[in-house]
Amino acid sequence: MIIGSHTHFGKDQILGSVKEAISYGANALMIYTGAPQNTFRSNIILEYLEDAKKLMKENDIKMENVICHAPYIINLANKERIEAWNFSISFLKSEINRCEMLGIKYIVLHPGSAVKHTKEEGINNIIEALNCLDLDDHKCMILLETMAGKGSECGASIEEIKTILDGVNNQNMGVCLDTCHLNDAGYDMNKFDEFLDMFDKIIGLNRVKCLHINDSKNSLFSHKDRHANIGYGTIGFEAILKVVNCDRLKEVPKILETPYISKEDNEKEQLYPPYKFEIEMLKKGQFNPHLIEDIREFYK
Ligand code: FE
Ligand code: FE
Ligand code: ZN
Repeated sequence: MIIGSHTHFGKDQILGSVKEAISYGANALMIYTGAPQNTFRSNIILEYLEDAKKLMKENDIKMENVICHAPYIINLANKERIEAWNFSISFLKSEINRCEMLGIKYIVLHPGSAVKHTKEEGINNIIEALNCLDLDDHKCMILLETMAGKGSECGASIEEIKTILDGVNNQNMGVCLDTCHLNDAGYDMNKFDEFLDMFDKIIGLNRVKCLHINDSKNSLFSHKDRHANIGYGTIGFEAILKVVNCDRLKEVPKILETPYISKEDNEKEQLYPPYKFEIEMLKKGQFNPHLIEDIREFYK
């Protein structure tokens, strides 16, 4: 099973991210190359990269299982303020360059929110933006993430993702499936095989290069996008277990983006990463009804 989680990209950059992933027992990881909410980016330090590569080799983490996530501030769908739209394009370009410096092969991107545009206009703006990127020159592939359909989000249906992929000149693009988003968009994860049949017919399963594994706090069709810990949401442990063990997506890295755990119940501050315990649970194939308590006990 190729499984990992979102990790931090801090002072020691990718070296810290890899160390964190190893502490969770992961063989895959996802990073933001800086804070996802702002545009401040430190220079990539090659020394950290060399040390990270050594550590990855020792721990059997392959470069193709290191995923980058583009920052949320990029919105290719909204062209209301042309400077903001142009900035989104150039910032995405610089993120792709950072990925290539690090040797990262995949960058996950939220297609974007149409805001005051219609869905159709939003999707056309996304296509136009992606066609501005000269993707041919790049070795790093953009993966469009399937969205929950919160607010004016584009890409909540497989048909919308397909329209974007078809509109982009360069076909070196793929898809990232997020189980929480799919659930909230109305795709039942209890019928994952049927979903994959449908996806294969419309887009092709070979385009799926990453899976985001999250339970959901909300019901099917809720269009909310609030992630829950594995087995503690509406999708449930058994359905998620089938997804991570699915033979058709065996080689695809699975990345957890589930919420951190607070010190005590009803506390706002989320301090403890759940990933080591969730990965353990999924590898074992057995639900842990004391997950939260075990995490608190381990990190206190
Ligand atoms: Fe995402
Ligand atoms: Fe996601
Ligand atoms: Zn989400």
